Amino acid sequence: MAEKNVYFFGGGKAEGTADMRELLGGKGANLADMSSAGVPVPAGFTISTRACAAYYENNKQHPESLQKEVAEHLARLEKLMGKKLGDANDPLLVSVRSGAAASMPGMMDTVLNLGMNDKAVEGLAKVSGNDRFAWDAYRRFLQMFGDVVKGCDHEKFEEALNSVKAEKGVEEDLDLDTEDLKKVVEKYKAVYRDHVGTDFPQDPVEQLWGSINAVFGSWHNPRAEKYRRLNNIKGLIGTAVNVQSMVYGNLGDTSGTGVCFTRDASTGENYFYGEYLMNAQGEDVVAGIRTPQPLQSLADANPEMYKQLDDIRSKLEKHYRDMQDLEFTIQQGTLYILQTRNGKRTGLAAIKIAVDMVAEGLITKEEAVTRVTPEQLDQVFHPMIDPAARKSAPVIAKGLNASPGAAAGEIVFTADEAEDWVKNKGKKVLLVRRETSPEDIGGMHVAEGILTSTGGMTSHAAVVARGMGKPSIVGCKALQIDHAKKTLTVEGKVYKEGDFFTMDGTAGEVFEGTLPLIKPELKGELDEFLAWADEIRTTANRPGLTDQVFRIRTNADTPGDATVARNYGAQGIGLCRTEHMFFEEDKIATFREMIVAKDVEARKAALAKLMPLQKKDFVGIFEAMAGLPVTIRLLDPPLHEFVPHEAAQIEQLAKSTGVSVDELKRKIESLHELNPMLGHRGCRLGITYPEVYDMQVEAIMSAAVEVAKKGMEVEPEIMIPLVGAVKELSILKANAEKVVARVFEEAGTTTAYKIGTMIEIPRAALTADEVAQEAEFFSFGTNDLTQMTFGYSRDDVGTFLPQYVEDEILEHDPFAVLDQTGVGQLVEIGVERGRKARPDLKVGICGEHGGEPSSVEFCYRTGLNYVSCSPYRVPIARLAAAHAVLKNR
Ligand code: PEP
Ligand code: MG
Repeated sequence: MAEKNVYFFGGGKAEGTADMRELLGGKGANLADMSSAGVPVPAGFTISTRACAAYYENNKQHPESLQKEVAEHLARLEKLMGKKLGDANDPLLVSVRSGAAASMPGMMDTVLNLGMNDKAVEGLAKVSGNDRFAWDAYRRFLQMFGDVVKGCDHEKFEEALNSVKAEKGVEEDLDLDTEDLKKVVEKYKAVYRDHVGTDFPQDPVEQLWGSINAVFGSWHNPRAEKYRRLNNIKGLIGTAVNVQSMVYGNLGDTSGTGVCFTRDASTGENYFYGEYLMNAQGEDVVAGIRTPQPLQSLADANPEMYKQLDDIRSKLEKHYRDMQDLEFTIQQGTLYILQTRNGKRTGLAAIKIAVDMVAEGLITKEEAVTRVTPEQLDQVFHPMIDPAARKSAPVIAKGLNASPGAAAGEIVFTADEAEDWVKNKGKKVLLVRRETSPEDIGGMHVAEGILTSTGGMTSHAAVVARGMGKPSIVGCKALQIDHAKKTLTVEGKVYKEGDFFTMDGTAGEVFEGTLPLIKPELKGELDEFLAWADEIRTTANRPGLTDQVFRIRTNADTPGDATVARNYGAQGIGLCRTEHMFFEEDKIATFREMIVAKDVEARKAALAKLMPLQKKDFVGIFEAMAGLPVTIRLLDPPLHEFVPHEAAQIEQLAKSTGVSVDELKRKIESLHELNPMLGHRGCRLGITYPEVYDMQVEAIMSAAVEVAKKGMEVEPEIMIPLVGAVKELSILKANAEKVVARVFEEAGTTTAYKIGTMIEIPRAALTADEVAQEAEFFSFGTNDLTQMTFGYSRDDVGTFLPQYVEDEILEHDPFAVLDQTGVGQLVEIGVERGRKARPDLKVGICGEHGGEPSSVEFCYRTGLNYVSCSPYRVPIARLAAAHAVLKNR
């Protein structure tokens, strides 16, 4: 017996199955699957990809067996549909479409309305009661068949159509009536004859084979071959051909068409949502010529039909176990599903649907967790621009999407003004700057959103906004900011202070004016969902690790941030940047005094004033994180960042310190460096000004002792930044231990503590075995590690990095997505060599990558103990970690 190459589907049955993609193509396997699931898809049959391969092997001839199979299946189709191809009373019309195992949208040929001829057009006119519709279908088929199957010049058909329009003096196709369309048909036939040399075939079977061959032939058309090459689609033997009965929603008042979602795609409510139009074709719904009715009104207008549709809705959800987006057509009272697929949805809906489907027993908790992407989860924590309003609002500028969420307000150009406008005038503002610096922190705090024209994903504005959970766009090159004039120019249009803007930090897009924002609400479901993610993460097996649990910590500098993060599920602080504290009002003056001190004595005096203030900050943080580890980093940035550079401020500093203006200027000048990022910063400061680190260690440990005395558990981890040589660490560790011993002695008690280091210089990663002799923990500072591995200044990348990504020199911005190929190697080496020296070495990451999903997965795979990210990204990291576990199981 010859092998089977044609597979029937329809009438609630199918010869194929969902897993026969290779043989039936994606579309064919899908149609078979839907049909056997009881979904009323228009019936038809699929000719296999094997038949396509054989067609090419046999010199574009079909074996007799295939011809026989097709004839049998066609007869079966006609019987099921109760119609015949070419019939003069009630003709069957079919579509002939390609469909390979891999999706190749629009690359191969399609023929619609096949079976049309001089008799069938009369038949269709009769059953539809619509002559014009029938003749229009005929002329469309003539054109498609001529063009696709016989290669007639497309232009010639256009010319023919235009000549009839011109004769009548109209411009639109819609202005042609039945008699005009009859003329078009005659002209099209002539075009066909001129090109092909014979008459257009009236025999539908001849039409069918011509179309099947055309679809097979299109497998090797240059477009399809190029598509496969570009998309690396290999190993396929050919395309299948799907011959399927056409159904029409415009055959009178008992016909119609619509689209629906099995649940609400924006809220996730378990509510059948959709729109339909009676006596219409799909394109009428899409084109918006007529206003569709809400699906619920079908329940009143035609309860029987609605019930059928509603039954299909539950059938589909049970079968696909996900929310479906489907298209349906009712042809003279009979319902057909033309397409169903997993529906697109908002973040809110994704979570609600996943949680509900677990409760309904449709999916498991693990599946629920895989159903929501980190981007979708992120959406529910931030306001977003109302999608309806957004559609019609033009984007005036685009930048890097540094921190998600949307915000609207009046633009201001300085941090002071931001504070003034918000506090004294009760306004909402967006702070717009070329770049931000630590001095802007107050204005950043009160602004709704932060927009800069320069900077990259780890620039000050990006890191701080992310920490605050505020929308931010950086590196928005199109904005020409004139701080002096307080104006902003975008493509020649000038905006001034007080003009209204709306920004979307998730997309990195800026809009003029105020667009409405919406804030998703979702409490119970969210907690339940995240608890499932945590369960997957915390029960994962990681053989070979002393502590197998993969944890999520946060980067937080204040008790307030720490509390936010803890509420979001943070399991400790992975990075507390102490320098941020020095910018607070109670400290900045004394800190500057310390920097410009004449000698060690003067410096120590200033530090002695800072110690209790800094201790107070740490007490707050330890209390907020009671029972959890807190990693506190000693001073890191170059000192010049803290001193004023403007004359007025220098004078003020002179007054408060008693140091002369000239001397101050000399001092500030001496702090100037050409490459401050590679200069006198990090542990280098600790080596040259040991008293600074001593003060900080004293503040940390005396705070720890004080909180412990109150009965709370503290786990301080002192972190030394920017180590490149183990000697730096051994000196600073010894210094710190001396201070710790003194604090313990004075307090008459002790607490557990650790001293460790950041790995953010390539040399530290390469010599991790040496560094781990001293360090009790590592935390990868992948911001600096990326900067130094690539040799890109993290604050200046806006000038070239966007183009690098656009030109695909780099796949991603490496400051946002960890470069696993390059920087990742240093992380792997650091972990491996570090643990060789110290098997129970605790290793984490605190660079911005700690909250980016693909980087979180890398950290999980590489055996890190935790990732640390800004408070608002903690839930994202929890989900990304669960995904990492499931993916690597
Ligand atoms: C880092 O370099 O990755 C890091 C966390 O430190 P900072 O961003 O403060 O330099
Ligand atoms: Mg760093």
